[in-house]
Amino acid sequence: MNSRPIQAIVNRDAMRHNISLIKSLAGSAKVFAVVKADGYGHGLSRIFPALSQIDGFAVIEMDAAAFLREQDARRPILLLEGVFSSEELSLAADLQLDLVVHNIEQIALLEKCELSYPFHVFLKINTGMNRLGIKVDEVMQCYQVLCSLPAVERVTAMTHYAEADSPRGVDWQNAQFLEAIGSLVVPACKSNSAALFRFGPNEESWVRPGIALYGASPMTDVSASSLGLKPVMTLKSGIIGVQEIGIGERVGYGGTFTANQHMKIGIVAGGYGDGYPRSMPNGTPVIVDGIRTCTVGRVSMDTLAVDLTDVPTGNVGSTVVLWGEGLPVDEVAQNAGTIGYELLTRLTARVPVFCSD
Ligand SMILES: *Cc1c(COP(=O)(O)O)cnc(C)c1O
Repeated sequence: MNSRPIQAIVNRDAMRHNISLIKSLAGSAKVFAVVKADGYGHGLSRIFPALSQIDGFAVIEMDAAAFLREQDARRPILLLEGVFSSEELSLAADLQLDLVVHNIEQIALLEKCELSYPFHVFLKINTGMNRLGIKVDEVMQCYQVLCSLPAVERVTAMTHYAEADSPRGVDWQNAQFLEAIGSLVVPACKSNSAALFRFGPNEESWVRPGIALYGASPMTDVSASSLGLKPVMTLKSGIIGVQEIGIGERVGYGGTFTANQHMKIGIVAGGYGDGYPRSMPNGTPVIVDGIRTCTVGRVSMDTLAVDLTDVPTGNVGSTVVLWGEGLPVDEVAQNAGTIGYELLTRLTARVPVFCSD
């Protein structure tokens, strides 16, 4: 039985390649694979088999942590936002999770709990991103309180870089980090993908790359392939209709594209209902039968239109790559004013996903 031709392919071999590159950059630092948001939209259970060389996992969601613990009894699993209640704290103990602690309320939860499992706590320091984390001048006191608690076995100092991918870099935050920890001899966990690829591990025991695992670029001005990364997800579909149009004819809702020559238009099974953003403008690149062409007109829920005028074989049944192999997700994303991360994580549930090894 034939079905609607859209599908995503998750290439685990590409992921293994990216992981060995990441491991070589990390040197002696251990690597948490950041697999939040269902493995950046790839499906945690799909990518898990490719993660055997990884030292630990970092997630936001408790159900993802539980899934990982079921698969792996031993490797560390870090909750990147920590826990939100006493109930979650005892669940975290049952699952032997590592905890980020980023506010005073989470320290209070650890203080009043009576759990026999002593946690490895990652004390998150706000070194300038001003998102989550303890203020630099309160870190020492928090550290001392944490170390005194029976529910805490050890503490690693953590921070997150805000501008690792841009000119300001990481030094300014590292200075704050050092000020916060003072003379403490404490392991550190700092780098995301951008920091790791630009600066290498920064005197830390653990690094936390996410996007690089999936073969997209952490930097807007550097391509994934120039970093040596291979795309893990390819979103492809097919042409399900063809229209020949003349000069002055328009395409799609709102008629936002007008032909200025005779054109062959291909209708692709794929739209914002599948996770291909409606904000993609005319001229966004696609590959049809191996030939690079572009979108025309507005993306609708189930279809989008592409220019087949210069694709001689273009017809119903032609294959269309929307992003992935041969067409970096970052490049596609840039057209819609977003980043690869967002396209990967917004693939919708109706798109069938297949794995290749
Ligand atoms: C998502 C996340 C990462 C991974 O960032 P990438 O840019 O995908 O490498 C690392 N640390 C924290 C705290 C995160 O939330």
